[in-house]
Amino acid sequence: MAQEPAVSEKISRFLATPRPMLINGDWVASASGETIPALNPATGEQIACSCAGDGTDVDKAVAAARAAFEAQHWRRMMPTERTRLLWKLAELIDENAEELAQLEALNQGKPIVLARQLDVAGAAESLRYYAGWCTKIEGLTTADLSFPDMRGENARGPAYHAYSLKEPIGVVGAIVPWNVPLLMAIAKMGPALAAGCTLVLKPAEETPLTTLRLGELIQAAGFPPGVVNIVTGYGHVVGAAIAAHPDIDKVAFTGSTETGRKIVRAATGNLKKVSMELGGKSPVIIFDDADLEQAIAGAAEMILLNCGQMCFAGSRLLVHEKLHDDVVQGVAAIARKTQIGPGTDPATELGPLVSARQRERVCEYIQAGRDEGAKVLLGGKPHGDKGYFMEPTILTGTAPHMRVVREEIFGPVLVTTPFRDSADLMEVARVANDTDYGLVATIWTRDLSRAHSLAAQIKAGMVWINTPLAFDETLPFGGFKQSGWGRESSRQCMDEYTESKSVIVAL
Ligand code: NAD
Repeated sequence: MAQEPAVSEKISRFLATPRPMLINGDWVASASGETIPALNPATGEQIACSCAGDGTDVDKAVAAARAAFEAQHWRRMMPTERTRLLWKLAELIDENAEELAQLEALNQGKPIVLARQLDVAGAAESLRYYAGWCTKIEGLTTADLSFPDMRGENARGPAYHAYSLKEPIGVVGAIVPWNVPLLMAIAKMGPALAAGCTLVLKPAEETPLTTLRLGELIQAAGFPPGVVNIVTGYGHVVGAAIAAHPDIDKVAFTGSTETGRKIVRAATGNLKKVSMELGGKSPVIIFDDADLEQAIAGAAEMILLNCGQMCFAGSRLLVHEKLHDDVVQGVAAIARKTQIGPGTDPATELGPLVSARQRERVCEYIQAGRDEGAKVLLGGKPHGDKGYFMEPTILTGTAPHMRVVREEIFGPVLVTTPFRDSADLMEVARVANDTDYGLVATIWTRDLSRAHSLAAQIKAGMVWINTPLAFDETLPFGGFKQSGWGRESSRQCMDEYTESKSVIVAL
């Protein structure tokens, strides 16, 4: 395995001191003074530490966010000025792109190429998209109400003037996971700030570094103090305090379905709004008329990207029985050739899992698969003697009841199922939909009529046809069933951060 390349002097300096939290425009230590080590998952060694915040820190951050929300300099800031701020932040991300990508690769473990394209360039582009929304938040007007005109018979013209307004929802608590840290932070911050909200943002305890560096860029861009606050710490402490806080108006969460349930329960105190992007167990469906080369490459990408630690990972492969073995061997051949190594090495294609805990979890699932009778066709073990690397793994001979088929593993583990030649589309859709989740499905076929008919029967928020990964901010992203509540991206996302107010005036 390749050696870990040395990091730049700028990054060494950033890592050298405990990273404070951003509250009301100041960089502060946690009230408890406790810290949490940040590790390099390629070595298991500590590279930095962040503050272990608690409820006291959350209280301060919420008070700052509330004050900033009510302050005239934010509330009455011209939308064009908010656009400029968001755009400026995107430019600062671009200017510091290599540093951010290196930090993400170092702390999260993903290949630097992926960090550059997806996490960093994606974050800047996403901010530019939301920058455009600042000037497009509008309600409607109508004079045509079907409400009785009380003015008597001689009245002329409309009896009422009515309009609706879209107002920022208020203080947002944003809780994000460790798999795509910077981009997930931006996915909450972009629409919240475009709508005129203020934020308390909590990165995952494993991967706080790019979010804290983002905090410095937020200050450099010129956002008023308190508009964005960053509180680091453990989920059951800081995350739980955000979810339960009586002065937070909305929680925007990305993470596991299990944590999503806890957040919903905690949010009942003040009935704050909750939007959630949760887990997945996404099917990749390959028909016998598919372009096999592309379908095999796409299936491999869907499970290997970010070492399988993607909510939309294509972790269930459903293949026409005639092609099943060829497809599985094809995916295995790609996986065998994949260069495993530290994310910071430019040659790396597959980095480590994020933590020892995550690798343990993945190994437990593989063992459960074995115990329930699945066959390990490829991999199945940790890789190397340091860090949290995992062999790409393919399990065949699976059955619908098995845990490896039903539960989200969040690692490079693919389970495969052949479907019969005689299976009609309803049967294929039934197998694809046989899951508690409903985030994404991928369909490979040259028959577009079949593709569209199946897409209509799929219970998932996103369907990709003849392509493994296709995103655009103009399209809503989110899940059916237990994959979440609400949508990110698009006009629909802006609705998640605004309240509607209808005003009726009798003339
Ligand atoms: P997680 O739920 O354990 O943690 C996510 C965040 O929630 C972290 O910041 C964590 O500190 C916090 N948290 C933990 N316990 C909490 C609590 N009791 N109250 C409030 N916050 C708490 O998830 P994870 O293991 O970090 O991430 C992996 C999961 O995220 C996977 O299930 C994956 O599918 C999901 N995910 C979904 C999407 C999506 O867009 N749908 C994107 C990325 C990841």
